[in-house]
Amino acid sequence: MHEIGHAVYDNNISRDVPFLLREASHSITTEGIAMMFGAMVKSEDWLTKIRRLDPDDAARVVTAAKKALRREKILFARWTQVMVRFEHGMYTNPDQDLGKLWWGLKKQYQLLPAPESTDRPDYAAKVHILTTPVYYHSYLMGDLFAAQVQHHIATKVLKPSDHKITAFVGDTKAGDYLRDQIFAPGNLHSWNELTRRATGEPLTARYFAEQFVR
Ligand SMILES: [Zn+2]
Repeated sequence: MHEIGHAVYDNNISRDVPFLLREASHSITTEGIAMMFGAMVKSEDWLTKIRRLDPDDAARVVTAAKKALRREKILFARWTQVMVRFEHGMYTNPDQDLGKLWWGLKKQYQLLPAPESTDRPDYAAKVHILTTPVYYHSYLMGDLFAAQVQHHIATKVLKPSDHKITAFVGDTKAGDYLRDQIFAPGNLHSWNELTRRATGEPLTARYFAEQFVR
């Protein structure tokens, strides 16, 4: 579902956009949409209408699924704090004791005690440090973007009462909005300009907090 989110985004970029701008506005926007799609499998709407679970079964599963999603997002937000600060520290001062920096951050944000020795390059076991440097924050900012878009769809496009998690199944208004306001412009606007145009305000953590923290 996550990767389908990326695919739907790319597939709906307007062919009128100049070729060199025919890509997502930013990793924040495409990861946000991908994570929004990924989270749909934990919604009642998706489980009953797409997976075709019996509504009683879906209701039972969805309570646990929503709890899991909330934990996943909050734990992930802390992972991102470790990564952003580690990468910032490493690139600013690569000669410092990186093992100590890594474990200090893991203790502070993930409450994990350091092993007896921090001499080993444990940080190198986190694949993104090596393969996708300075990218990890895009996932969390993408989560903020997704929550903001979801809130906008619920309150301004569809106006249902529950704006928490829904898959918007069969709702062409939600699809039209995503296609026209978010996917179609490709990279014509910077990510924050796209966010402002599509949701009426710059990126904010408010809707993520409303959805997952409170
Ligand atoms: Zn992705």
